[in-house]
Amino acid sequence: MSTTYHGSCFCGAVQFTVTGEPAAMGYCHCESCRAWSAGPVNAFTLWPPTAVQITRGADNIGSYNKTAASRRQWCKSCGGHLFTEHPAWNLVDVYAAVIPGLPFKPGVHVHYQETKLRMHDGLPKMQDVPKEMGGSGVTLAE
Ligand SMILES: [Zn+2]
Ligand SMILES: [Zn+2]
Repeated sequence: MSTTYHGSCFCGAVQFTVTGEPAAMGYCHCESCRAWSAGPVNAFTLWPPTAVQITRGADNIGSYNKTAASRRQWCKSCGGHLFTEHPAWNLVDVYAAVIPGLPFKPGVHVHYQETKLRMHDGLPKMQDVPKEMGGSGVTLAE
């Protein structure tokens, strides 16, 4: 049995579900995530695209690709952030903050070399991203 979690943007115009379990969860410290979110760190959950279903307001989603690796999406009414598609990995980052019912169990920190907020939680701190995702696989001290 797969569990379905409900999410929405800040105003509720865009609603969606994610079904199953995320491929990975954690925190991204990269400069792009920080600049786009206006926050010190991004709590991510990665899903196969087929796990994400838009149930309302699909035509109300804006998107922007600063790089080919990340297609960032938000609600055009409230500006609330929703997803980042990562086509090369065939994964969608659904921000942990917009699926409050999902038990968030972070497993890793990525792009920690760019951090502005050191987090002493004992989880692995990847310099960039894991080797299997095209990164160095190097881990850093907290
Ligand atoms: Zn909205
Ligand atoms: Zn990032």
